[in-house]
Amino acid sequence: MGTQIKINNLVKAFGSGSNATRAVDDLSLTIEPGELFFLLGPSGCGKTTLLRMIAGFIDPTSGSIAFNNKTVTHDPPNKRNTGMVFQSYALWPHMTVADNVAFGLKVRKTDPATRDKLVKEALAAVQMDPYADRKPTQLSGGQQQRVALARALVIRPDVLLLDEPLSNLDAKLRNDLRLEIRRICKDAGLTTVYVTHDQKEALSMADRVALLRSGKVVQLGTPVELYRQPKSRFVAEFLGETNLIHATTETYNNNQATLAIEAGRFSATLTQQPERDCLVSVRPEAITLRAPGTPNTLPATVVESAYLGETAQHIVELKGAGHIKIAELNPFGSNSTVHPKPGDNVALELAQSDIVPIQND
Ligand code: ATP
Repeated sequence: MGTQIKINNLVKAFGSGSNATRAVDDLSLTIEPGELFFLLGPSGCGKTTLLRMIAGFIDPTSGSIAFNNKTVTHDPPNKRNTGMVFQSYALWPHMTVADNVAFGLKVRKTDPATRDKLVKEALAAVQMDPYADRKPTQLSGGQQQRVALARALVIRPDVLLLDEPLSNLDAKLRNDLRLEIRRICKDAGLTTVYVTHDQKEALSMADRVALLRSGKVVQLGTPVELYRQPKSRFVAEFLGETNLIHATTETYNNNQATLAIEAGRFSATLTQQPERDCLVSVRPEAITLRAPGTPNTLPATVVESAYLGETAQHIVELKGAGHIKIAELNPFGSNSTVHPKPGDNVALELAQSDIVPIQND
């Protein structure tokens, strides 16, 4: 069941000589059957080019792509049984919803009775069955994108390819459809490759994420691994807010490091010995404000503090590290002892297992 996608040393170069761009640069990865796999990265990092090579719309310069160990590298799109959904829904305006969804089956000469049954099933999967007789112009953007999804699903693809499918929708609809697309892909057991530059979309939906930069994978893992254990500054910053602190390693044994900055010392739980001069990433929510003088904390001074309802954001000055962002997730809860004003002296407690040494790239 399900299709594995294996990509080996894939290269796509556009142009030649001094104008050449390697949009995808010697990239290898394996996507497991039934996985919801994200290609995430900034504009121009090569996500769409990679997706289009998997679909067969772009011919690779070198390297290979295999579906279940069968090489498809240079096969045309219609030989691959992939379903694709784009940012623009690209529905036929003169056809009804049902006819739009049936189109791919007509091309494949599926008999009419089977066709009707498959169209009904696909529309039911995206909860659009009551709209079968409408024209696309009579639908909202979110509904049109559901139809586009049904159209891709109806051919029972081995692989579903989604290129920024939610980027034309408003924030509320995007949130609703995220969960729904995940449910649909999982119910169908489909191997899905999803391209986005939106890190929240990737973190909230993916089984695994490959973060791309300049045509290469810089880190691959589950959303939690990428968010909590970023290997580099690029990964840490791309996936959300973080604090970067230059520190000196004083001691290391039994996975415990003592790191020092001008303000004082702090402990970190690390599986590997850090460099003597190291850069660590600490997420705003991994820092807790305490009363001044609390043991095992660093003294700091409040610069700014904003309550945002269920959360609060504080900025403090930490000697040797500059401005540090802190996210307090429950500012009115019983654990919150500090309600700071600018100029207040406070103490910072850093969660030891959320201090992550990173490469400074
Ligand atoms: P975006 O999020 O902006 O769509 P992307 O990560 O999908 O970006 P690609 O569209 O894959 O990026 O492009 C990767 C690089 O390849 C870019 O530098 C782009 O300018 C270049 N590129 C893409 N298509 C072509 C082409 N047909 N000819 C020349 N260069 C191209």
